[in-house]
Amino acid sequence: MVKCSFCGNDLKPGTGKMYVTKSGKIYYFCSSKCEKNFLKLKRNPRRQKWTKLYKKR
Ligand SMILES: [Zn+2]
Repeated sequence: MVKCSFCGNDLKPGTGKMYVTKSGKIYYFCSSKCEKNFLKLKRNPRRQKWTKLYKKR
């Protein structure tokens, strides 16, 4: 099962987007929201409350 590289949600086969960096790293995004946050805004998923990677204290 592929997971979204930003929010950590499972991606169903055939959904989401794949992104490959110039260095060859592969990222998957479940939505354009995740893609934008990661690539454009360069946000840390651990600091976004709506992701599964968010760390509660
Ligand atoms: Zn996502």
